[in-house]
Amino acid sequence: MDDNKKVVVIGTGFVGMSCAYALLNQNVCDELVLIDINEEKAKGEAMDLNHSLAFSPAEMRIYSGKYADCNDADIIVIAAGVNQKEGESRIDLLKRNKTVFQSIIQPVIDSGFDGIFLIATNPVDIMTYITKELSGFDKSKVIGTGTSLDTARLRYLLGHFLDISPKNIHAYVMGEHGDSEMIPWSQATAGTKPILSICKDENSLKKIADDVKYAAGEIIKAKNATYYGIGMALVRIIKAILNNENSIITVSAYLDGEFGFHDIYAGVPSVINRSGFREIVEVKFTDEERNQFTESCNFLRTTTDKIRN
Ligand code: NAD
Repeated sequence: MDDNKKVVVIGTGFVGMSCAYALLNQNVCDELVLIDINEEKAKGEAMDLNHSLAFSPAEMRIYSGKYADCNDADIIVIAAGVNQKEGESRIDLLKRNKTVFQSIIQPVIDSGFDGIFLIATNPVDIMTYITKELSGFDKSKVIGTGTSLDTARLRYLLGHFLDISPKNIHAYVMGEHGDSEMIPWSQATAGTKPILSICKDENSLKKIADDVKYAAGEIIKAKNATYYGIGMALVRIIKAILNNENSIITVSAYLDGEFGFHDIYAGVPSVINRSGFREIVEVKFTDEERNQFTESCNFLRTTTDKIRN
């Protein structure tokens, strides 16, 4: 790898641009390329970001590009997608987003890209699967944001509830990034203390779990879209990759026999480093937690089967 850290963001909507803005503010890479089917939009966004360089700690090269620019990129972030039409089923939306991804992945591959795909487009577990299928890349090089944002929401809400910094809350949301996601509470700690030993009030924990699950819906009701949180989650994962951190993040990772599942993507605590996804971290579920996780993966299994070739 040369020293030039290069990230390409495909899809310069709310999510893609929140990621780009956070990359700039955190001075994460040396080169940032913006690509969108709406070329004018990508061009305008690049101009706008460039005008902030005078006030930024970053010496970043930012421009709107073409797929050929993916050639020597380290990471391709995909936040491109279409929205659900009225009366459209989830599967129909998925099929249209699969068509969007077909128009993206092939030219990226044709550019000679050999880095890591990081997917944010929803439903993220399925779109990540589709990326692996379309690219033919190894599982280590295709990951999705998975339940990283849900985990951040959980850490924030638990920290607020316990009056402890979210940075010292070690708790994970797992499974689908969606309604069937689950929390292995038996594994959650604040510093060294198990959450279940310091909070005996099941209702409070249930409320926190519901608030995590329904957060996106609440935000969308209030402001039509969610983007800052996912933008920061993307940047967290990008930093773990570029800085070879070996950090544990609940990305959407390819299950290859882990937890008894094969050939699906699901949100699981994973070690992330310069080669992308390294491995899944073992989780010691209680029986009830295992059933919840299995149910979530069964849902992902069924949806994946409906959409694959
Ligand atoms: P948006 O509509 O603002 O942006 C989508 C962008 O994709 C647009 O700029 C559009 O022009 C572009 N696009 C569409 N088709 C394209 C193509 N074929 N090639 C290139 N670009 C194309 O939407 P958004 O609010 O930014 O959301 C983007 C995606 O992120 C959605 O699928 C959304 O559900 C998802 N999302 C995921 C999470 C998560 O936790 N993973 C959180 C929030 C949003």
